[in-house]
Amino acid sequence: MVEMRKADFLKANLRLILAWPLLGLALAAVLWTATLLQLQAEKKVAQQQALGNVASLSRAYSQYLLRTVEQMDQLTLQLKYEWENAHGKLRLEQLKTRGMYAMPQFALVAIFDRKGQAVTSTAPMQRLRDTERSDFLLRHWRSNSSALRIALGREGQSGAGTLVHFTRRLDDADGNFDGVLLISVRSAYFSEFYDSVNFGKLGMSAMVGEEGELFSVRLGSTVLVPEGAPFLDTGFLDTDSGAMQSGGRTAFADAQNRYVGWHALKAYPFTAVVGLADTQVLQPYQETRTIYLGIATAVSLLLLAFTCIATGLSLRLAWRHHQSEGVRNAYRMATEGTSDGFYIIAALRNADGVIIDFELVDCNEPGADFFGVRREQLLGMRLQSRAHEPYFRDLMHNYRAAMVSGFSEEEIELADGNPFKLRWIRRRLVRSGDRLAVTLQDISAAKLHEQDLRRVANEDGLTGLPNRYWLQQFLPGALARAALGGHMLALLFIDFDGFKDINDTQGHAEGDKVLRAASLRLNAVLRPGDHVVRLGGDEFVVLLDPVEDDSRAEQVAQRIAIAFDEPFYLGAERHKMGASIGISVYPRDGAETEVLMKNADIAMYAVKTAGKGHHRFFQPALFETIRHRRELEQSLVTALEQDEFLVVYQPRVDTMSGRLCSMEALVRWQHPVHGMVPPLEFIPVAESSGLISQLGEVVIEKVCQQMARWKTYGLQLVPVSINVSARQFGRGDVHRVLASALSRHGIDAQLIEVEITESAMMDEQNRAVEQLAAIRALGVRLLVDDFGTGYSSLSQLQKFAMDGLKIDRAFTMELGRSEQGEVFVRAIVSMAHALGMSVVAEGVETREQLDMLHALQCNEVQGYFISRPVPAEQMLELMLKRFLIEHPARTHPPFSLAS
Ligand code: C2E
Ligand code: CA
Ligand code: CA
Repeated sequence: MVEMRKADFLKANLRLILAWPLLGLALAAVLWTATLLQLQAEKKVAQQQALGNVASLSRAYSQYLLRTVEQMDQLTLQLKYEWENAHGKLRLEQLKTRGMYAMPQFALVAIFDRKGQAVTSTAPMQRLRDTERSDFLLRHWRSNSSALRIALGREGQSGAGTLVHFTRRLDDADGNFDGVLLISVRSAYFSEFYDSVNFGKLGMSAMVGEEGELFSVRLGSTVLVPEGAPFLDTGFLDTDSGAMQSGGRTAFADAQNRYVGWHALKAYPFTAVVGLADTQVLQPYQETRTIYLGIATAVSLLLLAFTCIATGLSLRLAWRHHQSEGVRNAYRMATEGTSDGFYIIAALRNADGVIIDFELVDCNEPGADFFGVRREQLLGMRLQSRAHEPYFRDLMHNYRAAMVSGFSEEEIELADGNPFKLRWIRRRLVRSGDRLAVTLQDISAAKLHEQDLRRVANEDGLTGLPNRYWLQQFLPGALARAALGGHMLALLFIDFDGFKDINDTQGHAEGDKVLRAASLRLNAVLRPGDHVVRLGGDEFVVLLDPVEDDSRAEQVAQRIAIAFDEPFYLGAERHKMGASIGISVYPRDGAETEVLMKNADIAMYAVKTAGKGHHRFFQPALFETIRHRRELEQSLVTALEQDEFLVVYQPRVDTMSGRLCSMEALVRWQHPVHGMVPPLEFIPVAESSGLISQLGEVVIEKVCQQMARWKTYGLQLVPVSINVSARQFGRGDVHRVLASALSRHGIDAQLIEVEITESAMMDEQNRAVEQLAAIRALGVRLLVDDFGTGYSSLSQLQKFAMDGLKIDRAFTMELGRSEQGEVFVRAIVSMAHALGMSVVAEGVETREQLDMLHALQCNEVQGYFISRPVPAEQMLELMLKRFLIEHPARTHPPFSLAS
């Protein structure tokens, strides 16, 4: 992938890659051409100079030779004259000892007679070769010219040196041949010029004769013999003088190139030749050349380095550009797919570096759509031209902040008539260098949905009122505001009285109607700033925010009470529904939502338990007892779920025979933590909370179940009485529950009795009448419980067609204690018997009580004296035992009801 991108990149940037090297190459070419041309020119000058040099050198050499040869010419002339004047008496040996011809260049000076015999000489004749002597003698003898002859020779015995023989003919007085005069000079003498001039190591000089013979040759430091002459070709000596460059191989044996100059002596048949090795002549040029080439090479290397660096740098720059371009393209392509607007804006700064505006560098199509223009129209645009004050100031503030922090994300609700024609946008800013990437997302739909959801979550579906969730969200803020403002706030916790009955008897649909009507009534008594909240069921909260004092809260509570005085109408039926109101006040009764709610609830609960249709402010004193009750209520709910209830049985015994004739079912709560909870503690709570119906069902079910079990043991069953409290008639289905349990467990209705208190029979709505009739219709017997504590009249007992009554324990206790007790029991027994009802005495604890009840002809007795309430297993034993009184009283004759 990356390789691919690199390859693409290289292909796209080929020109750039080649540009710098090509430029470098061109510069190098120019440099080298100039250098080489310059060198060429300099070489030409150097060559020209070299040619001039050798030309003038050869001229100088020729002059030197001329002088030297002239000198020899003179010497021979002088010697000839002296010899001829001395008439054969001149002795060269003597002259030599006197210092004449003693110089080293003179190899031999001699005089030969006409027969060729040496007459006198400066050195032994061995130095002269015979052939050479014969040669010059013969030549001078033949020609009668007195001119000087010059010939090349070799040194006699040693044969090492080259000699130049200068000879002259000697004439006698008659002009006849009289011998030859010889001055033989070492040839090296003619090369001595060489030492006065710097010829260098490879320089050469030569004295060349007419025939090309080499009279004297010098090559570097060595003097050469003619045979070792360096010349291979002397053809150039055709002209008198000149200069040229000779190719070494053709001209010189040592294959050295030389600049050669030559100059003829004119007066003598010699040409002076000088040669300078081109390496030497061109030495300065070579040095210049080395410098030039060095400079050119250095410059080329610099160029190369520069090219490399420049290429590298520009490639890197291009790569970065390519990458950022790639990223931008990718981002744009990616964002093009979405409906999000994407923009890149560049900061514009003033001289102090402060950002004064932003310019839009890039954006995607959706981004342009947000503004309702085409993308091209937006590019290059400045913020200021798009946004007007004060929006621009806000925008700049946010963008500058994002330039500092590097990132920001906001959800913005736009004002009406905004350029985007949108309601909500999410704006995300990401800094990158001196730029900001801005993403705008239209979140209007999501926001509306969210608002919907929030509304649904915060609203009670039935009444349209805010719900518990709303209150929990709202209250903390309201409390905080109250804390800041130092004002009070009141919470009215409302629970309707009797709503459950309406709901149970009329059905949920009707119940809902009542709740809606009730919520309207609540709303009607409030000021606009106050809130009504439905917590659920028939629980409402009114929030008074702010509230000046308790009297204002009290006022509202009273107005609510008045509003609920009026009954609710369901069709033709009127339903009375009161309201219990508990009030908590911030900050007095709590600083937190939960505490305030709980305390208002406790106050309400206190109202409920104390009597309905009132309101009450929270008091700390209420707290513990109510909280305990409240908690009990909560745990009752769990107890029902967890099946923590069990039923114990207390036998009832026939007073006369002492035989087990019946038993009372009493519920027990086996609490997992608190152990056995007595019914007097939880039954009232179950009643006030409405849980009693459910509990009653449980008891009926358990009793029937137990009886069925006893039946399977083959025992003879005795009737079991079940306590049913007044509240249980509210739901109006006790008879149905009973019928269902009886039939399911196959229990005869005759074996069940129902105990109800007097107060239950005094139900104002007379619902109990029908219910009791329905129960009785099943065949179930009805007993009045706790008889004597209420105010039931005989006529009422008749009306309900009760089968028996149970004298409250309080009266039994009075037996034997006071006259009153006995009188009272006697009255009840006789009245009951008169009405055809049996009588049960509760709470028999002593033998004395038993005996008295026996005497008073009470039908049955029940109490600790006979047995405490016991679990079913123990009851089994009692059932088997059958007779539970050891010695039934016999003080009075048995009483028969029939009589
Ligand atoms: P109750 O109907 O008057 O029940 C008789 C209560 O007197 C029982 O108390 C029983 O244990 C107690 N008791 C019996 N003999 C004696 C005695 O010789 N001396 C004394 N001091 N007490 C005696 P318990 O079981 O605590 O029940 C209290 C009340 O709770 C009952 O009074 C009844 O009103 C109610 N209750 C019990 N079970 C149920 C039930 O299943 N449903 C309903 N609705 N109420 C029930
Ligand atoms: Ca009872
Ligand atoms: Ca009782």
